[in-house]
Amino acid sequence: MSDTLATPVCLNSTYWFKDTEELIAYQENKYQSYEYGRYGNPTTKTCEEKIRMLEGGEDCLLSSSGMNAAICMLLALVPANGHIVTTTDCYRRTRQFVQTFMPKMGITCTVLDPSDYDGLEKALNENDCSLYFSESPTNPYLRCVDVERISKLCKPKNCIVCVDGTFATPVNSKALSRGADLVIHSASKYLGGHNDVLAGCIVGDKELVAKCRQFHNIMGGVLDPHAAYLVLRGMKTLSLRVARHNDNAMRLATLLEAHPKIDVVHYPGLPSHPDHEVAKRYMSGFGGVVSFEVKGDLWATAKFIDACNLPYIAPSLGGVESLIEQPTIVSYWDYGAEQRAELGIKDNLVRYACGIEDFEDIASDVLQALEQID
Ligand SMILES: *Cc1c(COP(=O)(O)O)cnc(C)c1O
Repeated sequence: MSDTLATPVCLNSTYWFKDTEELIAYQENKYQSYEYGRYGNPTTKTCEEKIRMLEGGEDCLLSSSGMNAAICMLLALVPANGHIVTTTDCYRRTRQFVQTFMPKMGITCTVLDPSDYDGLEKALNENDCSLYFSESPTNPYLRCVDVERISKLCKPKNCIVCVDGTFATPVNSKALSRGADLVIHSASKYLGGHNDVLAGCIVGDKELVAKCRQFHNIMGGVLDPHAAYLVLRGMKTLSLRVARHNDNAMRLATLLEAHPKIDVVHYPGLPSHPDHEVAKRYMSGFGGVVSFEVKGDLWATAKFIDACNLPYIAPSLGGVESLIEQPTIVSYWDYGAEQRAELGIKDNLVRYACGIEDFEDIASDVLQALEQID
């Protein structure tokens, strides 16, 4: 397009045609154009190509947020009265959509523990399953699924396998190469990497992405070209950042596991994690998020969090700054103790999303904060 090194931000809502002949050629697929901003944009396209190549997929669709990507995928690929399989311990808004809105279209759901492969086989045998959908690692317990094993079970049943790889990033794990049909990301997290943009993507099999794109063209939820530029710019340092996130999180998890004021640490890089073996096989790094349980109740845990000086108290993850949160308060405060217990969200659970600060600073800060609770 030009010799600018940085990708130009094409602020454009419509595309013009030289004459009627060119327009007809476009309609007959003999001339390439985007036609209108909802159907595509050169900046966005460049970003889609970059993510596509990084994941090793056939096609990629960018969307205005991770949720928009997830919902677009679900609505485009699951038929009315269909059945899907998802796993426990998943992003709250995704679960809400599956439980509250999909039933309106007669779509039912089996929810399984991420390592329940017998349960998956049973669900596949007893239902006409259109889709298997899981995060890997999951939020907040960082469970990892055996994508190869799941794909082998799902393929013969024509059940699409879609993995939310937000926590893994394509640097740590490429689910498509293990047999998944689709991977989705909240690009608001590691891909963007600087807590300054919302975006999402669907990448993988070209026919499936085409179905999602057709639906997206109707629904909207288009990514602004400025936002596409920010994702592109963030991705220039993705592998450097992820290497540091991985390193900080592994060291933090190890430090915390040995600490007397910590009950349990949930991190797939630790041998104590239930999915450590699966994670070792699929991941070259274990990600930047560490979840752990402080010895004490909700308020002791809150006191620890308030005593931390380095991380910001905030939801989200994947940016250069460390963030800390108590899932009970940030994500499930409206639920009440009983409902939280049902979901396995413990009041003393902390989610620490490591940034790219020096580990020594993270460690000394966490240790001084733990000193302050009894
Ligand atoms: C953040 C997140 C989402 C939602 O993405 P948004 O970009 O915030 O809409 C979905 N899945 C996972 C695992 C996430 O962390």
